[in-house]
Amino acid sequence: MSKHDKKELVIIGAGPGGYAAAFHAADLGIKVTLIDPEVNPGGVCLYRGCIPSKALLHLAKTKEEAMKAVDWGLEFEEPKIDLKKIAKWKENVVEQLTEGLGQLSKSRNIEYIQGKARFTGENELQINPDEEGKYKIKFENAILATGSSPISLPNVKIDHDNIWDSADALELKDVPKKLLVIGGGYIGLELGSVYASLGSKVSVAEMSEGFLPGTDRDLVKVFEKKKSFEEVFFKTKVVKANLTKKEVEVTLEVKEEEHQKKFDCVLVAVGRKPNTGNLNLDKIGISPNENGFIQVDQKRQTKLKHIFAIGDLTGEPMLAHKASHEGRIAAEVIAGKKGSGYDPKAIPAIVFTNPELAWCGLTETEAKEKGRKVKVVKFPWAASGRAAAIGEHEGFTKLLIDPETEVILGGAAVGKNAGSLIPELALAIEMGSTASDLSLTIHPHPTLSETIMESAELIFGGATHYK
Ligand code: FAD
Repeated sequence: MSKHDKKELVIIGAGPGGYAAAFHAADLGIKVTLIDPEVNPGGVCLYRGCIPSKALLHLAKTKEEAMKAVDWGLEFEEPKIDLKKIAKWKENVVEQLTEGLGQLSKSRNIEYIQGKARFTGENELQINPDEEGKYKIKFENAILATGSSPISLPNVKIDHDNIWDSADALELKDVPKKLLVIGGGYIGLELGSVYASLGSKVSVAEMSEGFLPGTDRDLVKVFEKKKSFEEVFFKTKVVKANLTKKEVEVTLEVKEEEHQKKFDCVLVAVGRKPNTGNLNLDKIGISPNENGFIQVDQKRQTKLKHIFAIGDLTGEPMLAHKASHEGRIAAEVIAGKKGSGYDPKAIPAIVFTNPELAWCGLTETEAKEKGRKVKVVKFPWAASGRAAAIGEHEGFTKLLIDPETEVILGGAAVGKNAGSLIPELALAIEMGSTASDLSLTIHPHPTLSETIMESAELIFGGATHYK
């Protein structure tokens, strides 16, 4: 394909949305051009998000597990941290996966353009608009998948040395003695946990009255009880952060009173905003909605039917698996597959801290907001043989069930590896399963998955191991 040919499908952004769309479209026989500034596909998720953070969290959990085993009779010395080696290992994980995606792209004959794109017309893009070698390409269909970037705070200027965003934190250049994480959402908690494990004294400042605003409080309580951080400031606003020679002086506002605190580094993790600004969308008459997201229909089409948008660009939840799912839908619509549309009943969410928090479908918080009647059943992990065998007593699994039909509407779990229970619940919700379906399905023993079966048994009066 020469750069002068009209492209059948261009995809701008090669994150989990863009590359999933590209691979699926190519498999469906479409000629695909995929554009991204990185040398290989991967996007935020692989280079600066899901994968490096989970590699580091795995390390943090391994260390914690090992230290826990001391109580059970294994003896260790206090682990030593070789930061350079850890950073190298994390980079290897990222490299291995992104290079693999590059290979998968090549094997599908996808034209990969390393660069940035911006609209110059409804069927025309400029590649590398800010560079000397810029050129234009024409296309029939486009999928916008440019993802999102960290939100910054007024008066807290990210300098990438002492005041970080999430990408800086993942660079692992240093382990500050005292780190303040601004924001108690999942990114703040995950990265805060990594640094706490590496040896930083981590404090967290959060505007609302607890971690993970919007998440069911019973799940969050189990995490809060573990006291993973040195200090926690709830209902606290960070007013400013000033860099002095050696430290960051932070002004915190609690109940309209200001307090000064000093930290070696500050990590700003207050949310993400969609990357719509660099696409020249005005040129084609697409404007983001009041929340900054691009409006799309069920087929992920914008108001221009040949231009689609997917992933973090289109709204919450800003998660990789939601982006990939949308990408596959858009590819199918472009390939002319009838009946394709975005209509999930449940999008799983996992916070990979220790303990993990995970949920999908309807939550108790949402049920209350909507005034929807639900029956909630909860199975404590203290009653699970597997949980006991791995020293996990605080967690639980819960189900939200329609009281009339007994259909599973939602579910959640908190505890070690709680996230691995959630796909079963997602499938149950998507399939319209009832509590009987779950309680009559034989689950392997001894596994944490039995806590799902036993939660479902509770609706019928009592589970084998808990009443
Ligand atoms: P992105 O992955 O953001 O990719 C967009 C790509 O488009 C980027 O490569 C960008 O450079 C490129 N781009 C932007 N503008 C242009 C342009 N003009 N031209 C060409 N290319 C352009 N999600 C999960 O599901 N699970 C997790 O555990 C998880 N952990 C996370 C941890 C962290 C620290 C962070 C920051 C995020 C995490 N996420 C996680 C969120 C996840 O990374 C995003 O939801 C996901 O990457 C969104 O995919 P996307 O395809 O929409 O865009």
